[in-house]
Amino acid sequence: MRPARLVTPAVLLLILLTACRSAAPPGGAASTGAAGAPTLDALVWLQTSAEARALALATFAAATRELEAAVADPSRSALGQGEEAAVLPLAVIADLDETLIDNSAFEGRMVLTGGSFDRAVWAEWVEREEAELIPGAVEFARRASELGVTLFYISNRDAEGKAATRRNLERIGLPVPDSPDTLLLRGGRPDWTSDKTSRRAEVARAYRVLLLLGDDLNDFVAGARTGTAERRALVEAHDARWGRDWFVLPNPLYGSWESAVTGGEAEPEATRRKLGAIRAF
Ligand SMILES: [Mg+2]
Repeated sequence: MRPARLVTPAVLLLILLTACRSAAPPGGAASTGAAGAPTLDALVWLQTSAEARALALATFAAATRELEAAVADPSRSALGQGEEAAVLPLAVIADLDETLIDNSAFEGRMVLTGGSFDRAVWAEWVEREEAELIPGAVEFARRASELGVTLFYISNRDAEGKAATRRNLERIGLPVPDSPDTLLLRGGRPDWTSDKTSRRAEVARAYRVLLLLGDDLNDFVAGARTGTAERRALVEAHDARWGRDWFVLPNPLYGSWESAVTGGEAEPEATRRKLGAIRAF
């Protein structure tokens, strides 16, 4: 049971400030129109908790085991590719933000300044190249490389930030070969919208895709940006995938889970809808 906490006026003010700002996810501001802000508890949990670290390590360890099994089994594909894919070279598709790399310092700035999501500030964060690794990510990437598996990054970071993102990934030890181009960012081609389906299909044309990794349902299937019931139905429809060839990293800061509740409405309507969505006795 969760212990009661003493909420002082100062803490209450901070809670209200963080709850009533309008922010949007990194790389997803324009695409989702999501309202909402990183909450203090979610941010502290992600940045400091042993549990968040253990969960990330467990996810990448399980993904590594399944990767090794999938390499050896030509019938396996995370995208349901048929027998014809058995002869193709091997790939994994991973999201970047809050899947392989940690942008929580950007979220921390929003919490501390009480500022709204600002595309210019996000662009500044990207250009600083300071995103760090999610625990277990680089070991997973190294194992993929040892197994001859190409790691593709399908990210909704803007294509304008590609050079900085590339340098950031190289600095923290994630592979970014010159060829093939594995950094597939939003807007890199006209049909590379925030829906990642066309980019997954692009990779699947030339590779047998063994695993998908992400922190948002949109990293796995089309139609993730709908309501909460539809999103849960999508999870059920793919129930055999989870933990086998689809792996989810935890992100309580932002995502399509949030806009599913808020409907993309701005504050204070967003908070009103969130309060209306919670269960309580
Ligand atoms: Mg992400």
